[in-house]
Amino acid sequence: MQLELTPEQVRFQKTVRDFAATAIAPRALEIDASDRFPHDLVSAAAALRLLGVTVPSAAGGAGRDYVSYALAVEEVAAASATLGAILVVNNSLVAEVVHRFGTAGQKDAWLARLASGRAVGAFALSEAQAGTDAASQETAATAQGDGYVLRGCKVWVANGAAADVAVIFAASGAAAAGRGVSAFLVPLDRPGLTREATGDPLGVRGLGCVDLRLEDVEVPASALLAGPGRGFDVAKWALDGARVAIGAAALGVGRAAFDEALRHARTRETFGNPIGKYQAIQWQIADIATELDAARMLVLRAAAAKDVRERTTLEASMAKLAASEAAQRAADRAMRILASAGYRRGTAVERLLRDARALEIVAGTSEAQRMIIAARVAADPR
Ligand SMILES: Cc1cc2nc3c(=O)[nH]c(=O)nc-3n(C[C@H](O)[C@H](O)[C@H](O)COP(=O)(O)OP(=O)(O)OC[C@H]3O[C@@H](n4cnc5c(N)ncnc54)[C@H](O)[C@@H]3O)c2cc1C
Repeated sequence: MQLELTPEQVRFQKTVRDFAATAIAPRALEIDASDRFPHDLVSAAAALRLLGVTVPSAAGGAGRDYVSYALAVEEVAAASATLGAILVVNNSLVAEVVHRFGTAGQKDAWLARLASGRAVGAFALSEAQAGTDAASQETAATAQGDGYVLRGCKVWVANGAAADVAVIFAASGAAAAGRGVSAFLVPLDRPGLTREATGDPLGVRGLGCVDLRLEDVEVPASALLAGPGRGFDVAKWALDGARVAIGAAALGVGRAAFDEALRHARTRETFGNPIGKYQAIQWQIADIATELDAARMLVLRAAAAKDVRERTTLEASMAKLAASEAAQRAADRAMRILASAGYRRGTAVERLLRDARALEIVAGTSEAQRMIIAARVAADPR
């Protein structure tokens, strides 16, 4: 098993780290405060080819491996979880999906645009009653003429405020256990499509989440991805990738919390000593570092598996579960170490705590990951 990064992966990681430190980090608090989608930073990320990282260069992407993509998302999210999540949606949930399942026409129309930042993508699976229970789709795709008519409402569509195109899921048949669900690639300027901001989110503010209302939206049959009734194959494959990448984003958030905790432990003095001299603080620092490194091993293992295998569901769910929970504990411990210094709006640690919470929910909650992991390990005990 290869545990060292290649020289090229290290070089790419450093390039993205420098970009994150100089271009993204100075904007993180403002993005959070304003809750505005950071169009300019998305364009800057596109210039570094971070919007279609694993899409082959011949198709307009950067042609890198999944490990490099995970490294990049961690670096970006360490500066801003919002920008990290924007990249994950565009890469894993849209560009990779179009590359894997799209027809030649869909690839020609969208892939190079998505990978270059000329178009932003979104992924519309969740509905008010269909979150963890995603199979309970009420959005309907009714066959009409040569195509379909879509009716329903999608919720929490990340990137939605800025998106030009979305992968939209709808029941095109009897939708029991995900059967009969189809995936469509739909330009968001179609008549009948309206978006409304999801509300005042707690974390990853600026992600542009919208509710997407579909009122008699006509789409041609050529908008289908992977064919009628294969929507859940598309969703599961896409979520495998997104879970690796959201795990990587969580590592970035956890690392930022660790940095804040360490800085405070070195500089804050009580009883004549920096608090980092006290074992109670040292053990928390040690636990944050160890849990993040353990989670990083799972994220990199899952990313490496994505590079060589079609399906990586078990590895991806383990990575997402471990990393998003490690990030939450890291942010919580950092808040404990900073105490009142972290407990103020507009400080990094309170934002990291809110962002870590969001990453636990996005791409499936911890309970959803545990259900997937338990089913897999019970079916194939090691
Ligand atoms: C910031 C953000 C961005 C998002 N972006 C997108 C997006 O781009 N596209 C998209 O389609 N969706 C998106 N979502 C939606 C997200 O995927 C769902 O919120 C998530 O899957 C959970 O669904 P839910 O909120 O309806 O919770 P529910 O499914 O109602 O679950 C409520 C609670 O019950 C638990 N639970 C549910 N069923 C079980 C069970 N069988 N056993 C044990 N526990 C259970 C859950 O883990 C959770 O704790 C986003 C959400 C957020 C917060």
